Amino acid sequence: MPIRLYCIGWVLMASLEASPLEEWRREIELRTGGRIAVVPVHTDPERNEMRLPEDLDAARIARRYLADDSFRRELTLAQALTINHRGPEGEIHLILLNMALADQWKGAEEGLLAHEVGHIWLDAMGLRAPAFQPGPRACIGIHAGDIPQHVLIRAEAERRGISTRPHLLGNLRMALAALESGKATRDPPPCARLALLSQILDARVGVTAEQWDERSRFLQLFESAYPEVASQAPAIEERLRLADLTDREQLEAVTEFVRQQLERLFEAPERIRTPAPPAATPPPIP
Ligand SMILES: [Zn+2]
Repeated sequence: MPIRLYCIGWVLMASLEASPLEEWRREIELRTGGRIAVVPVHTDPERNEMRLPEDLDAARIARRYLADDSFRRELTLAQALTINHRGPEGEIHLILLNMALADQWKGAEEGLLAHEVGHIWLDAMGLRAPAFQPGPRACIGIHAGDIPQHVLIRAEAERRGISTRPHLLGNLRMALAALESGKATRDPPPCARLALLSQILDARVGVTAEQWDERSRFLQLFESAYPEVASQAPAIEERLRLADLTDREQLEAVTEFVRQQLERLFEAPERIRTPAPPAATPPPIP
């Protein structure tokens, strides 16, 4: 069974008490007959090391995926990754938390939960993202699945009375601060370009000017820092807005369109490096 990966912006840290989110989780587990498990992963990118809890069955399954180099690399770039695993152990939905970025999701538990549970819910509903393709181009499939799914996750969470906005705004404010300080990554490598495209689409589609008074400033700064990335956004935004993404065929068509755009952006030659402050951390992947 192919696995599917999602970059998620927020992480499950709070206990799931009776709440719309807990209800959502229960519905998924009933539907799939599986369970949702959270696995904190402590990463050390410089030493290329990862530590997982010893005492979790889910961690044992996670280790198998983490044996793949491209999978490990994607996790170090994301705040978290979700895997829908189907094997002899049954169905298990793993949420791997990149604890090295834990500061980024502090205080935004509900939004992070909605995001993570939302990706799993879409898989359970048969609205699946592309299967994970190991290798240097793994990020293409991940973001191709992520971009349209974020639209569906926000809508469904809202329908259930769960606000994903604080989580989204937290990530966008962090990105805005990086742009304003000049510490945004200049001349981003291919996978970072795709993460940036996902980010600007979240800003364009996921939040209005009324909901975030710095939205236009963010878009302006983003477009001048990353013109090649920003130029891809309008065509994708149009597809996201026009399609009924809850229809499997339409979702697949939009995902395929996004994948093709991402491939082009992935292949784009790197810009000539201009004098700029030293590259900071990669942009957060929402
Ligand atoms: Zn996501």
